[in-house]
Amino acid sequence: MTFSVHGLAVARGIAIGRAVLMASSRVDVAHYFIEAGQADEEIARVRAGRNAVVEEIHRLQQTISLMGPKEAPQELSALLDVHLMLLEDEELINGVKHWITDRLYNAEWALTTQLEVISRQFDDMEDDYLRGRKADLEQVAERILRYMKGVASPVAPPSAGSRRKTQQDLLLDDSMDVPLVMIAHDLSPADMLQFKQSVFAGFVTDVGGRNSHTAIVARSMDIPAVVGARSASALVRQDDWIIIDGDAGVMIVDPSPIILAEYGFKQRQGELERGRLSRLRHTPAVTMDGQKIELLANIELPEDAPTALKAGAVGVGLFRSEFLFMGRRGDLPDEEEQYQAYRRAVEGMEGLPVTIRTVDVGADKPLDDSVRDEAHLNPALGLRAIRWSLADPAMFLTQLRAILRAAAHGQVNMLIPMLAHASEIRQTLSLIDFARAELDNRGVAYGPVKLGAMIEIPAAALTLKIFLKYFDFLSIGTNDLIQYTLAIDRADESVAHLYDPLHPAVLRLVAETIRECHAQGKGVSVCGEMAGDTTLTRLLLGLGLRSFSMHPAQILAVKQEVLRADTARLAPWAQQMLDAEDPAALMAG
Ligand code: PEP
Ligand code: MG
Repeated sequence: MTFSVHGLAVARGIAIGRAVLMASSRVDVAHYFIEAGQADEEIARVRAGRNAVVEEIHRLQQTISLMGPKEAPQELSALLDVHLMLLEDEELINGVKHWITDRLYNAEWALTTQLEVISRQFDDMEDDYLRGRKADLEQVAERILRYMKGVASPVAPPSAGSRRKTQQDLLLDDSMDVPLVMIAHDLSPADMLQFKQSVFAGFVTDVGGRNSHTAIVARSMDIPAVVGARSASALVRQDDWIIIDGDAGVMIVDPSPIILAEYGFKQRQGELERGRLSRLRHTPAVTMDGQKIELLANIELPEDAPTALKAGAVGVGLFRSEFLFMGRRGDLPDEEEQYQAYRRAVEGMEGLPVTIRTVDVGADKPLDDSVRDEAHLNPALGLRAIRWSLADPAMFLTQLRAILRAAAHGQVNMLIPMLAHASEIRQTLSLIDFARAELDNRGVAYGPVKLGAMIEIPAAALTLKIFLKYFDFLSIGTNDLIQYTLAIDRADESVAHLYDPLHPAVLRLVAETIRECHAQGKGVSVCGEMAGDTTLTRLLLGLGLRSFSMHPAQILAVKQEVLRADTARLAPWAQQMLDAEDPAALMAG
């Protein structure tokens, strides 16, 4: 039966494929396809893992049998029997074989997929005792996975998306060679990084806001995505056919042939539109009245640089360096590793400028999933970004030295996130001086950097003179500026309807920052999601913005808006918007 689930549209386009349900904790398991001839090897790997765990349990049972009832209670022995029974379970074994042989999933992926299928059956059980056995099943699967981790796979993961297909004719094909979409309760930004290398053509999560960092990474990958779809992961079954409409924020489950045909058509239209836009790649971004506009890229990893160049970016306006720090279980990158990563980004941009933002972890960007901040009531107001860096000067100095060293290889700007206080500015600047002095002492080469501050806290937007005294340029982080101005958690879907870029207070802070920078001859750009939203391009141009930084996938569509714009005509209209009670009502102007 066809039904739809509504959420928040975060990344455009249509994806049609089969559902892969994923527990959030399983996302760091590798997902790739194997060749048909490798299926036996993969099955053997799971079998070896299972046998090792069976042996381990037998050994434990023997030890227990030698102990008295005090040291080894009877329940323990019964529990181990249950684990053995689960390991012998035909459904687990046959299911794993099915995912490997028929779908060509790698061994770990096959195991976690079957685990998810059986877990659902446990969830549906009436009997409390039997329902409770789900935890045992998860434990044995976890042990098999741990064993397999220690044994290298003979099958190398292929390159990203090598088997991703989008053609509608696949819809009628019932083989394994169809696109897959991921359905999960929640995904962290670090989880999302895994997807950059993965096989999924789209994803849906139960939670998350439109400008949560998870959504932002989805946009950077340019795959259709919906977040905040509430109970999506409970309603979908493994392998269901799914349509993800990333433009409307809707997921359609088990679509009828007519609906499939309609969305297949929309999907092809989208591809044609992208093809048309790609012709603008080499066209200079100049408005009808001759204003040159700078279109820059936001990137998460140095490996994103070629995509930025391909999209026609004239530089990187925001390199979110925190993605180098995330998902590493506390093992932070040292100076050399960071220097090499920044250098790769700089060289990858082939002489164009690269703005590296110092680490911005905290709030909805935990270092890794195991250290999600549940201890503090309001992590978005807590130890995040520059506050985190200043709280750990040794870590911060390591990053500063690495950025300064990378600046010897090309044009580098250094951008500091979430500043609010003059004292934070002074502390940061003296640490940058200190990092230079350390490199001088070591005799290590480094280059000049322009220094910029992010304007993403209202307090900063209201004290611009202080910022302009110390910094060469400012970059407006509208994602946080909206969050902190309107007191709306950007990651919370339940207040997403109040997250409004057109709120008069937000527009005034943005307009004033642009005006003040121009008045003082300093550079200013917007690097929040507003910069890549084509419905806002004309407004930002009218407010005087000439530098936009966004996901590479958005650059050509924004360029198209720029080419059609006349800033002389837009300026008075934008001023009216600033004075309006309800600017959204004037948007058509
Ligand atoms: C912003 O806040 O607008 C921004 C660009 O930074 P981030 O989204 O990484 O917080
Ligand atoms: Mg921010």
